[in-house]
Parts: sequence; C-alpha cells; structure tokens
Amino acid sequence: NGGRPEREIPFNRPGSLTRVIAVTSGKGGVGKSSMTANLAAALVGDGLKVGVLDADIYGFSIPRMLGIVHDPQVIDGMIIPPVGVGGIKVISIGMFVPDGQAVVWRGPMLHRALQQFLGDVFWGDLDVLLIDMPPGTGDVAISIAQLLPGSEILVVTTPQVAAAEVAERAGSIAAQTHQRVIGVVENMSFLVQSDGSHLEVFGAGGGQAVTARLTAQLGYEVPLLAQVPLDISLREGSDRGRPVTAAAEEEGAAAAALREVARA
Ligand code: ADP
Repeated sequence: NGGRPEREIPFNRPGSLTRVIAVTSGKGGVGKSSMTANLAAALVGDGLKVGVLDADIYGFSIPRMLGIVHDPQVIDGMIIPPVGVGGIKVISIGMFVPDGQAVVWRGPMLHRALQQFLGDVFWGDLDVLLIDMPPGTGDVAISIAQLLPGSEILVVTTPQVAAAEVAERAGSIAAQTHQRVIGVVENMSFLVQSDGSHLEVFGAGGGQAVTARLTAQLGYEVPLLAQVPLDISLREGSDRGRPVTAAAEEEGAAAAALREVARA
C-alpha cells in the first residue's frame, strides 16, 4: 500500500453493529462456500445488509456463486466492491490475482491483503459480514482472528467421521483465538429418495460429533444449526450464480434448512 498508514477496520470500531462470521471447515469440498453463499442470500431475504469476503485462497468460488460479473473499482484508494444477488457486496482475493493463477503469498503478504480487504473496502453499513475461510487452520485463520478479534466462527462439516475430526480441529482454534463458535452446519447429510426415505451417502453423525466435542472443549453449548441435504437445485443454483435461498419460490429442503440457520 505504498507505505501509507493502514485504515482502521470499521468492524472493530466501538459500537459497530456488524456481525462478522467466519465460515470454516476442516477440509475442502464439504460445501463451505455453498453454505456461505446460501446463508448470505438467506440473510438478505430476511432484510439484512450483507457482505461476503472470499478468503478461500485455495479456490475462489464465491463470486460465481453470488452472480458477480464486475470487477471491484478503486476510487481514491478505496475499493468499491461489486454487488451480486440481492445487493450482496463481494470481495474475493481472487479478484486481485491474475486469472488462472494460484495465490502463493506467504503469511505476511496474506495478512496485509486481508487487512486491506477489511479496511480499504467500502463495505458501508453491513448487518453481517460473512468470510469464506480456506479449509483448515492456516495463516488466514490466524490473521482473521488477529484482525477481527470480535469475529465469530461457523463450522461446516459433512456427516463423515474423517470430515468431522478435521472440522473439530478447525473449530477448536477458537479456544486459542477467543472467537466464539456460534454453531455447526452439517452439509450433504442425506439424499431424499423418490419414496421419501433418506439415503445417508456420507454416513451419519459428523455434525453431532463436532458439536459435542466443541461443546466439551469450549465450555459452552455449540449447537448443530442444520442438516442440509444433498440437493441438485442447490448445486445448480451455485453454478448459475443464484443461490436457492435467494428464490422465494424455490422451497427445497436445503433452502429451508439454510433459512433456519440464517434466523438462528
Ligand atoms: P468447499 O467450499 O467446502 O470446498 P463447495 O461449496 O465448493 O465446497 O462445494 C463443493 C461442491 O459440492 C460444489 O460443486 C457444490 O455445488 C456442491 N455442493 C455443496 N453442497 C451441496 C449440497 N447440499 N447438495 C448438492 N451439491 C452440493
């Protein structure tokens, strides 16, 4: 940033009314970004002003999921975020790396980038800022905890035992960073078959296991906020930039479960 002093992060101002929620998972592919995008759309549906910071340096999927078509504008050193479905303001680290290239930044550079995306972006008055975190417990998780000490954590897992174990680890860094874990979302919990029965494609119990262990470890109740089924329309909605929770007429079980999370 050319040596100019860093701007204050508005979410840390005393009296800031923005809830900052970092959405994390132990490993990739469990639907963390999908849950983030759908939660954002569900929150907008409830009349809230929402921003999403895509900090998942291993795969930037939020802009596509939220229908972002424009690049951010930079005016007088302030970054104006493009707006997606329902007016959601979106900034992705992917908007600042050349197309098709991976982020190979080391910790300090990532930290500076995150600092800018929090302090130099014109977020306006948000009710909620969701941060799509990279899976695991790496540099970004540490930086976000330092930059946003008041942020909360939402853990996404699948029912699978292996996913649950790593998700627990991602959640438990909260004990060290003093961030509050607000709950767990179990995704891909089951597939509803044509006869109405549930096929447990990835097994069962992951969400329960993570909530139980985090509750024991953190010393307060960490609730299981939802079990979101496998749902073709949810996947299609992400692919075409219109989350299922954004469309009132689309009342699938997955959308309903995520609207519940948004209200919780
Ligand atoms: P992560 O952010 O954890 O890596 P993604 O959100 O990118 O995971 O999801 C991985 C893939 O699974 C995507 O193609 C997404 O559309 C799909 N997906 C996620 N959740 C569901 C679900 N409940 N039903 C169907 N497909 C899903």
